[in-house]
Amino acid sequence: MRARPPTFDKFRDVQAELERTGAAIFRDTDGVESLVIKFPYQINYIHSYAEDSPFFLGLAEGKLKGSKCRRVKCGFVFATPRSHCMVCGSPTEWFDLPLTGRLHSWTTCHFGSEAFLKETPYNLALVEFAGVGSVLLARLKDCVESDLYVGMPVEARFDPNPKYSITDVWFVPSG
Ligand SMILES: [Zn+2]
Repeated sequence: MRARPPTFDKFRDVQAELERTGAAIFRDTDGVESLVIKFPYQINYIHSYAEDSPFFLGLAEGKLKGSKCRRVKCGFVFATPRSHCMVCGSPTEWFDLPLTGRLHSWTTCHFGSEAFLKETPYNLALVEFAGVGSVLLARLKDCVESDLYVGMPVEARFDPNPKYSITDVWFVPSG
């Protein structure tokens, strides 16, 4: 056992050392040194999607399910599952969103939760669809930040081995 693990100024290097040996020291811009360890932690949640289930079952079939307010005078259209309209409170009904849309906004993540650390840096996009009143949050792959612009056409891709999670869908530049 080493008395003292190696020291790094970049947290990415700390992460790599944690993968290798399980311990590292991070020195921040003020010179403060913090011992960082790898601490495996796992818990299984039993989670019901309840009335959102059709959305996640749809992803497994290569479909994006949106929801539309049933009240004729409202008719608001959502790109994310809403059992009831957030505008007027009426029940909604499901419909198939187009698999193509446009980039509304994005952020490039240089850090992420454990599930996404290996993908960093990655792009998270808000995708807008023609005739739809809200946007969908998903990852944007097969591109780098300098490729991106507001209004860029994008299209959906689906995990061929679905996990019934929002990560079953992502977008790529289309064309
Ligand atoms: Zn409504």
